[in-house]
Amino acid sequence: MRRYFVGGNWKCNNTIAQTQSLINTVINKLVFDTKKVEVAVAPIFLHVPWVQANIQKNVQVAVQNSSLTKMGAYTGEISVEQVKDLAIPWVILGHSERRQYYGETNEIVGKKTRIALDYQLSVMACVGEKLAEREAGQTTQVIQAQLDAIKKELTTDQWSKVVVAYEPVWAIGTGRTASPEQAQEVHAFIRGWLKSQIGTQAEQATRIIYGGSVTEKNAADLIKQPDLDGFLVGGAALKPAFADIVAAANNAR
Ligand code: PEP
Repeated sequence: MRRYFVGGNWKCNNTIAQTQSLINTVINKLVFDTKKVEVAVAPIFLHVPWVQANIQKNVQVAVQNSSLTKMGAYTGEISVEQVKDLAIPWVILGHSERRQYYGETNEIVGKKTRIALDYQLSVMACVGEKLAEREAGQTTQVIQAQLDAIKKELTTDQWSKVVVAYEPVWAIGTGRTASPEQAQEVHAFIRGWLKSQIGTQAEQATRIIYGGSVTEKNAADLIKQPDLDGFLVGGAALKPAFADIVAAANNAR
């Protein structure tokens, strides 16, 4: 049985005081069965050391990006060695905001994923189609190309440290969630891809999580889908609703 995974992507939100308040009032009050659910939250880089020092032990810390380049003369970057050095276990890569605003192509996302895995980080690898692509009937084609670019870089064994986050771009931050059926359809496609392209072990063990306007209202229905193993949460991860979303995973199956 796959353990559920719930990630909170705080994006470029919060002052340190707001992050402290979120940790104290929501994150450190989360109660869940760690055998059933894994939870990780991703603050901005600057807040990571404070969060690490003050977060409850059952919640892991993630970063929202890591560099394509290693340590060196790369102004403004943060490399995988530095992430690893702080003992941060998770990195989110390929988020649609990185693809859209910072020019991250499928190839860059594939390479960043390999570099992070080479340093034993675990990766939430985000894939998802834009609205126009869905409307043109290209959803699976787009996702397949995103996954193929990651596959090109990884060994079969490295997939054991990857969580695939299916995040339809049209659902991110829009309040327009994929229906449970729409999400399941794509999750089943991704699981089929894992089987045919990586192998049965990856098909059975890889968590595929859904992201896109997940709230305390829709989480319980989404999590009932057989190929949906949790959530990547943006807006609702900054609110008490995150506790309800974690509870939906904790109470599922
Ligand atoms: C995200 O940014 O990963 C996300 C899913 O955002 P939201 O939940 O706000 O749609």
